[in-house]
Amino acid sequence: EILAASPSSDSSKGVENLVIIGSGPAGYTAAIYAARANLKPVVFEGYQVGGVPGGQLMTTTEVENFPGFQEGITGPDLMDRMRKQAERWGAELHQEDVEFVNVKSSPFVIRSSDREVKCYSVIIATGATAKRLRLPREDEFWSRGISACAICDGASPLFKGQVLAVVGGGDTATEEAIYLTKYARHVHLLVRKDQLQASKAMQDRVLNNPNITVHFNTEAMDVVSNDKGQMSGIQLKRTDTGEESVLEVKGLFYGIGHTPNSQLLQGQIELDSAGYILVKEGSAKTSVDGVFAAGDVQDHEWRQAVTAAGSGCIAALSVERYLVAND
Ligand code: FAD
Repeated sequence: EILAASPSSDSSKGVENLVIIGSGPAGYTAAIYAARANLKPVVFEGYQVGGVPGGQLMTTTEVENFPGFQEGITGPDLMDRMRKQAERWGAELHQEDVEFVNVKSSPFVIRSSDREVKCYSVIIATGATAKRLRLPREDEFWSRGISACAICDGASPLFKGQVLAVVGGGDTATEEAIYLTKYARHVHLLVRKDQLQASKAMQDRVLNNPNITVHFNTEAMDVVSNDKGQMSGIQLKRTDTGEESVLEVKGLFYGIGHTPNSQLLQGQIELDSAGYILVKEGSAKTSVDGVFAAGDVQDHEWRQAVTAAGSGCIAALSVERYLVAND
């Protein structure tokens, strides 16, 4: 094992090498690599998702596609292992949300409710939040019939061979609907408007697929359950006539997009029109030297735990190079 030679943190002046914001797969992977490179990273884990560190996977049950776990692993167990691994290598973890960031001049300033840290580099790994419909019974059926990730959950026994519904009319929803046809008996696509917003190619694929029924002008109002408390359908309402009905399905997938958690950086680094942090292609570099981004906050396309972890690795190795070059 070779630990890279690395610059020491300038603690005499109270300036740290690296602050990592976020505790999903991207943040913890960056923390593991940076700690092993002796950078003594300070990690603000945040507690926005369910009041605990660990990010989006804390809200799910089985993760079946993270390499190395043949039988699958629960989201919380996977995140706990990543956290302990980061801690074992000496990352300094704080369960606090960052409330203020200034990366306009170096050293950068990062502030939480409890402390202020100055640093020469930052990795933003604050993730993204799947948009929800806020149905009255949504919390009751979250992960028990409602999902925001077809790739993650489509093949699970809960949904396999069942009739399912997807909400949304854009690229995400149409991709989810097509993906789910691999496992589902039939897929209903519920579109609020009178047309699809997805690309023409995706529209054609959906409209010509015999396993997908598209319902235009249709809004999901709530979940309907059977006497065992399982999801049995969705209450629908037509947006043009107001007519209500129940569609029998065993699962509901949200394909209405994600909100990247980039508000802290607004006006300081370049974001795209949807708020995702822009990184130089194939790297973790943002528009500001010394500020790097990893995971879902800079990725509107893949949004997987393993890709988030991979980009966290790239960000940490990039920080190491940056600090050596600027030492
Ligand atoms: P996140 O996991 O979103 O973590 C972001 C972190 O940043 C959180 O800890 C949050 O508290 C923190 N944070 C945010 N703002 C602040 C702040 N101001 N200060 C401090 N901290 C902050 N992917 C798979 O590969 N397989 C699956 O089976 C799978 N299942 C999923 C199931 C569900 C229900 C969901 C929602 C997602 C699933 N995903 C799955 C996707 C996967 O969870 C994400 O791609 C991955 O978690 C992204 O990692 P991340 O590190 O970028 O961000």
